[in-house]
Amino acid sequence: DGVAIYNLGSINIDHLYQVDHLPKPGETLASQGYHVGLGGKGANQSIAAALAGAQVHHIGAVGADGGWCKSRLSDAGVNTDHIATVATATGHANICVDPEGENLIILYSGANADISDAQVKDALRGSGSGDHLLLQNETTLTYEAAQMARAAGVFVIYSAAPFDASRAIAMLPVIDLLAVNEVEAEQLSAALGTAVETIEVPHLVITRGAKGAIWRDRQTGAEHQAPAFRVDPVDTTGAGDCFIGNVVAALDQGQDIDTALRRASAAAAIQVTREGTSSAMPRSDDVDDFLATRP
Ligand code: ATP
Repeated sequence: DGVAIYNLGSINIDHLYQVDHLPKPGETLASQGYHVGLGGKGANQSIAAALAGAQVHHIGAVGADGGWCKSRLSDAGVNTDHIATVATATGHANICVDPEGENLIILYSGANADISDAQVKDALRGSGSGDHLLLQNETTLTYEAAQMARAAGVFVIYSAAPFDASRAIAMLPVIDLLAVNEVEAEQLSAALGTAVETIEVPHLVITRGAKGAIWRDRQTGAEHQAPAFRVDPVDTTGAGDCFIGNVVAALDQGQDIDTALRRASAAAAIQVTREGTSSAMPRSDDVDDFLATRP
């Protein structure tokens, strides 16, 4: 029944509080505004890829408070059969933002750390050559899942975010594509003591915000450029997840690397012009319309 994207990924509830200053120790602070949204790098990438037209199976976990997160994912077209409901609370982020845009974030991994080995095995049972597996650093079992998927011939993509040097280095031998932003690329090369371009992974993508992205294929030596489109951004949170979700969705649907990169750049350009993260991911129709207006 065709190729698919599997995503072992985080599901977070983002609680956003608008405050007139960041709280001091012992202070009780009233919030001027409050907004709840679905976030987590995993959920963001799943929604981006599903709206781009791919068949996406999300592998993850929520608590009893996360039923609406699952609904939000399935509304976007994501298969949620492999999202467990566990006793731990859903992963969440409490985010305070002051008028200057400075923030203070408390992150609780919650159910994202309660995904079981058996669950991952079961979800990946039907996967094989032509399929893609997405991984990030906000769940457990990324190494195990990568090994399992690769043995079945699945192409494994790993976003080294939030950055953790020892975890990223451990993942390098079991992945096909490493995805990093500019800062993560620098952190990783500092940890390895070598330029990021020399890292031994088959494929490397570095995103550089408004400066665009590059894809380096180690075997052919080819460097594919993905210039960013010029837009007026209002909220760039989730741009990287949008980009990766769209690249992989396009590859999964049989597009070549250059086409996939162009579509992903367009999708991310649209995403940054919208407020929000997962709620700002564009549909493939939006990307078609955007590209039709650009040379
Ligand atoms: P974030 O952490 O904000 O979710 P990131 O740091 O992982 O994002 P970026 O490198 O900032 O990812 O952006 C990913 C892609 O999104 C870029 O390669 C580019 O295509 C697009 N993009 C990001 N910012 C802009 C912008 N200001 N204008 C146009 N495109 C952008």
